[in-house]
Formats: sequence, C-alpha cells, structure tokens
Amino acid sequence: MDIITTIAEMQRQSRDWQRRGLRVGLVPTMGCLHAGHLSLVDICRGAADRTVVSIFVNPTQFGPGEDLDAYPRTFDADRMACAAAGVDAIFFPDPAEMVPADNSTWVVEESLSRPLCGRDRPTHFRGVATVVLKLFLAALPDVAVFGRKDAQQVAVIRRMVRDLNVPVTIRAAPIVREPDGLAMSSRNRYLDPEPRQAATSIYRGLTSASARFGAGLRDPAALERTVREAIEAAGGHVDYVDCRNADDLQPAANPIDRPALLAVAARFGPARLIDNTTLSP
Ligand code: AMP
Repeated sequence: MDIITTIAEMQRQSRDWQRRGLRVGLVPTMGCLHAGHLSLVDICRGAADRTVVSIFVNPTQFGPGEDLDAYPRTFDADRMACAAAGVDAIFFPDPAEMVPADNSTWVVEESLSRPLCGRDRPTHFRGVATVVLKLFLAALPDVAVFGRKDAQQVAVIRRMVRDLNVPVTIRAAPIVREPDGLAMSSRNRYLDPEPRQAATSIYRGLTSASARFGAGLRDPAALERTVREAIEAAGGHVDYVDCRNADDLQPAANPIDRPALLAVAARFGPARLIDNTTLSP
C-alpha cells in the first residue's frame, strides 16, 4: 500500500492505473477510521480495481469555535486499518497544498446545503464541496463512495457532480451502527460513558418514528416529535429534527407522499452527533 502525500504524485498514480485499464475508486475521509469507513472501502473495492482512501482533516468545513484542533488524528492506526482492508493507496495530502492560505476559489452549492446542518453551519458545505472537488481532481476517481450517515453531504456532492459535469460516479453506503444502534462516528470518542449511553436515544427515536411511519403515520411534524421526545427524555439537546424530501431536501409534504429523509443533529455533552433514516411510502 502506497502513501501518497502530493497532488502531482496522486494524479500520476491514478493516470498510470487508468492507462492500464484499471478503474480507480476514492473513499474520502478525515481519518480516525472505524468500521463505517471500512464498509465504504469494501464497497469501493467491489466497484473499482484500485481503491484510494484519502485522509484529510478539512479545515474549511469547520466553523469558528468548532472542533478542528481537537479532531482526533490517528494516522498510524488508520494506515494499519487500510492495509488490512486491502486499500491500494492512502492519499494523505499536506494541508498547505490542499488549501493554500490565500485560497479564494470556492464551490458553493446554493440549495441543498441551506437547511439541516447548513442552517447552523453556514460555511460547512462550501468547505466540503470545495475540498471534495479538490480530492477528485487529485485522485481522478472513476467512482467515489460516501456514507449515508452524512445524507445531506451525499446530496450536496451528487448535485455538485451533476451541475459541474464532474466525471465520477457517486455511490452511497448504508449507515454502520454500534451494537446498541449508535451510528459509528469519529466523534463518538468525545462521549463519556453516561452521555454515550444517552446518545442511543437518537437511534431509538428514529426507530420508533420509522415504526410509526410503517404503521401509516404520514405527518412529518408528528414523526419529528417522536424523535425529539426520545432525545430530550434522555437529556440530549436537539439542534434539529427535520423531515424533508429525500431528493431535493425541501420540507416534506403532509401527508408524506414520496421518499423522505428524517434527519437529526443532537448534542450530548461536547459531541454533536448526526443521524438519519429514510422513510419510503
Ligand atoms: P468522516 O471521516 O467522518 O468525514 O467520514 C468519511 C466518510 O465516511 C463519509 O462519507 C461518511 O459519511 C462516512 N461514514 C462515517 N461514519 C459512517 C457510518 N457510521 N456509516 C457509514 N458511513 C459512515
């Protein structure tokens, strides 16, 4: 497994593979890899001949006062996990090359990035879209894999790829959970045992909302309430619980008449956690 640290070398490697007729897959990550990330690697290996995992803590997607400095960095463990998972190369770029100090060109998606996490984090998706495009231009992937845990991110990236005619196929992977239902996240390590236990209320809330939806409840506000009550009863602070159309992220109609995304952001202690489920009539 190669460790590639410059954009020029990454491009050279990908072009070399592609000249030999090999399809290149990319799994963008911020490192601190867990089984959720590795499930993306598995999907990527099934869809491409060579798999690149990028590890880059993207400073432009963190807002002022967010956890950029505290974000866990575990490169040695990540390297071993990638090698064991059959990754062909890690792209581990230098922050100064990825985002020059005077960077003044941005990719701004102006619709799907506004609600949900975009409301409290107004520059987050600008940072995500810009750096994901830069990663695409470095790794030149034929296919790239993203997790549905960040459902809004997948929607924004798909829109960017469509609008800018980026020649890459986007694959979305199911959410991988801990045995008690908590969605795996690099930020779960911020949780002490008590809030860690309380955070399972997110999945409980989503599961009961899904069950009520399955039983015929089609009122988005009532489904949102189900999730909110579960989280607040456990002592969590809800940033949002929002039911939106799965495709355009506009507010879901009442009654819900097309696939919907029921999305949550909630805080338990220092950790802001996100999760979601899809509701298909
Ligand atoms: P991150 O390192 O948190 O930026 O995540 C990198 C990629 O892994 C993103 O596409 C995430 O959506 C995906 N991912 C993170 N956690 C999970 C999970 N529990 N299940 C599935 N995908 C995940």
